[in-house]
Amino acid sequence: MQELVGFIAGCLVTWLITHIYYQRSSTTIPKWAKELVEHLPKQRPTRDEVIRLFQEFLDTGQVEIDPLLSRVACPECGESAKSFERKGFGDDLVTVVQITCPACGWSEDVQA
Ligand SMILES: [Zn+2]
Repeated sequence: MQELVGFIAGCLVTWLITHIYYQRSSTTIPKWAKELVEHLPKQRPTRDEVIRLFQEFLDTGQVEIDPLLSRVACPECGESAKSFERKGFGDDLVTVVQITCPACGWSEDVQA
């Protein structure tokens, strides 16, 4: 998840800086930078574009959505949900799964 947040944040920051730079100096873009600047989106990525990027990242297998928590990362430390540890408890009537983050110890009980 840290990679994903970093990736999206990096995209947004890069876009923002370049966008500001482009607006301020649109008449004096250095020749070497012109091609690069012209390839960057002129508008903030739309929701659909962010969803598409997120799906692409999911497809790489680097991110996984925890099926019980619907999370991709620990809410405390951002550790990937891929490394969550699970323990099951219960009786004939109810089963509880304790999901624990190995990095920081955060845990949540979910009735499964
Ligand atoms: Zn954690």
